Amino acid sequence: MAIPLSFQASPAPTSQAIAPEQILHEVFGYPQFRGPQQAIVEHVVAGGDALVLMPTGGGKSLCYQIPAIARQRAGHGVSIVVSPLIALMHDQVGALHEAGVDAAFLNSTLDWDETQDVERRMLRGEITLLYAAPERVNTPRFLSQLDSLRERGKLALFAIDEAHCVSQWGHDFRPEYRALTVLHERYPGVPRIALTATADALTRADIVERLQLEEARQFVSSFDRPNIRYTIVEKKEATTQLLRFIEREHEGDAGVVYCQSRKRVEDVAQTLSDAGINALPYHAGLDAAVRQKHQDRFLRDEGIVMVATIAFGMGIDKPDVRFVAHLDMPKNIEGYYQETGRAGRDGAAADAWMTYGLQDVVNQRRMIDESPAGEDFKQVMRGKLDALLSLAEASDCRRVRLLGYFGEKSVPCGNCDNCITPPQVWDGTDAARKLLSTIYRVQQQSGISFGAGHVMDILRGKATEKVKQFGHERVSTFGIGTEFSEAQLRGVLRQLIATGALAVDAQAFNTLQLTDGSRAVLKGETQVMLRESISSPAERKPRREKAARGAPSPAAAALDGTGQARFAALKAWRAEVAKEHNLPAYVIFHDATLASIAERAPATLEDLQGISGIGSKKLEAYGSDVLRVCSAF
Ligand code: ADP
Ligand code: ZN
Repeated sequence: MAIPLSFQASPAPTSQAIAPEQILHEVFGYPQFRGPQQAIVEHVVAGGDALVLMPTGGGKSLCYQIPAIARQRAGHGVSIVVSPLIALMHDQVGALHEAGVDAAFLNSTLDWDETQDVERRMLRGEITLLYAAPERVNTPRFLSQLDSLRERGKLALFAIDEAHCVSQWGHDFRPEYRALTVLHERYPGVPRIALTATADALTRADIVERLQLEEARQFVSSFDRPNIRYTIVEKKEATTQLLRFIEREHEGDAGVVYCQSRKRVEDVAQTLSDAGINALPYHAGLDAAVRQKHQDRFLRDEGIVMVATIAFGMGIDKPDVRFVAHLDMPKNIEGYYQETGRAGRDGAAADAWMTYGLQDVVNQRRMIDESPAGEDFKQVMRGKLDALLSLAEASDCRRVRLLGYFGEKSVPCGNCDNCITPPQVWDGTDAARKLLSTIYRVQQQSGISFGAGHVMDILRGKATEKVKQFGHERVSTFGIGTEFSEAQLRGVLRQLIATGALAVDAQAFNTLQLTDGSRAVLKGETQVMLRESISSPAERKPRREKAARGAPSPAAAALDGTGQARFAALKAWRAEVAKEHNLPAYVIFHDATLASIAERAPATLEDLQGISGIGSKKLEAYGSDVLRVCSAF
């Protein structure tokens, strides 16, 4: 295409640098930087490369948006944001427009005319932030456009979002990310900032190597999310347990429920809907249009529960997700932490709740064993699974373990199930030895292996058909474990499998096999300590106090009667604006911003100054509307 010859639109380079703090106040309306944001922003504004590791909700976007704005104002031109989140680009760009920033995206949802229009504006250097998917970045057409910008000194910055997609160690691996090395090789002088919420050392090393970020400064934040309460319960009737959890603690709240399979997603969504919960399914088997519709409803409506496979969630920036539930265990702690991290981005109380059982252990082990990957890879995967299993089995602080996994030391948190209701621990060594020797004996006697149910029946002295059929009532351990409940034995088996002292043969009807690790337990050299199986953990947990009736938002809990009324009116007004602009409500103003306005009861525009979340553009666009809404009280 023809490249326009005049580039008057971009401002002349200013020698006077604009303080990043000024942009934070003026454009975003925030009073101060959070955590390491300021250091990161200053480093990148000055042209440095950076790798940013920050938990979800930590505030990564500002780390590249403010440098992009600062560098555009200083005459350096366009910043390119590489992101795999095509379905979210519209809202991300919309949020920037609301703040008065010139942003655009290039992806497959645009038609030819729209694409050309964006390209033209980009080439004129008018756009401050251009969002593009990695596959787009790697096309000759796009690269030649970048060449043109570069030649004229109008290529300000590359931001590589969700940088862990470059690593094969997560479930978000995108091969196109590997080709992003072209950015460094072709445009060596242009600063790059890579960002991710994945914290483990292996992935981090992979990002550095794959994106050639050896020289980049690394900014590693604390990964703690103190407002998230971690709870892991023993799986019984998972869907019923979930239903009870939602009804007790999260009535009317937005949440995400993760399930392993598409079928299960459909079933659970149906069960929740039947129970009167506003639930929608999301998985890769659904039509793209349906997926987009469900995602839009989750983002735009209030109180939707999304039941989903892990295909859902990356980049979802909805701030008021009040819970994330796992009905099936994820593959590893990275996955668990990233998924649970989608709760409570607004900093208000939120829950991460998971059910976990023997079948999860068996399934996850089988998926690794049956995967076509090489043995080295499988070994890494098994190690990661083991770490998650020991988190699930733990009777001490979950958070200490989670953070410990990411290399952070901490003290018991007071905000996880184990801290709130310390579980009873019992010595399962004797039960473990009896189980293992039963497995050994029946194998010796019958020449074949058996599954968990059968082995437990023998130990508990139940003369079932199958027991009689194989003559197993004559095994010497028959009936010597009557003092143990089935739940206890199940717990012991789970932990033996979790620690590798017992294996499950998926090729042979999930039968139990002794391993090298069994011997130490049999000999009594290894102690097996277990969480007492709690009959109904949900009932033992103190109920969290819900915010005042009619104000499900924690942000508004502290308001008085008139304040609540003002808040409700502001929310209704916001819903209309959001609908008109085809954006989620939180992009217009967060609940917390509306709550501050409601509290202040503003009469003039000056009264609105300094409220967090009201930048100059929003003040100009919405200030008088907000005053009008408030004046009714
Ligand atoms: P991440 O991408 O790290 O998950 P976001 O960039 O989406 O997080 O930020 C999370 C939320 O915190 C957003 O709603 C954002 O507006 C808000 N936020 C970020 N930085 C600040 C700040 N300095 N002050 C106030 N709010 C902030
Ligand atoms: Zn704790």
